[in-house]
Amino acid sequence: MGYALGMGTCIACKNVFAFNPLRVPSVRVKGVKEPVCRRCIELANPQRRAMGLKEFTIQPDAYDPVDENELCANRDSTCIP
Ligand SMILES: [Zn+2]
Repeated sequence: MGYALGMGTCIACKNVFAFNPLRVPSVRVKGVKEPVCRRCIELANPQRRAMGLKEFTIQPDAYDPVDENELCANRDSTCIP
């Protein structure tokens, strides 16, 4: 049994951060889901609220490690836990 973290660049601020690849908030850019860091989500939500847009939801474990078994259950290809 193990855990995994995704590492990536926030599409908004370009900082590198760790995230749960199944739960991290993301936006689509040219059809590709790009992760967004917690700070950028927390900065964006008041602006979205003020504009009458739906706020981004941050899942409680969005930036925590994911159980490898859950990660493998969500993959289409072969996964070796
Ligand atoms: Zn960011």
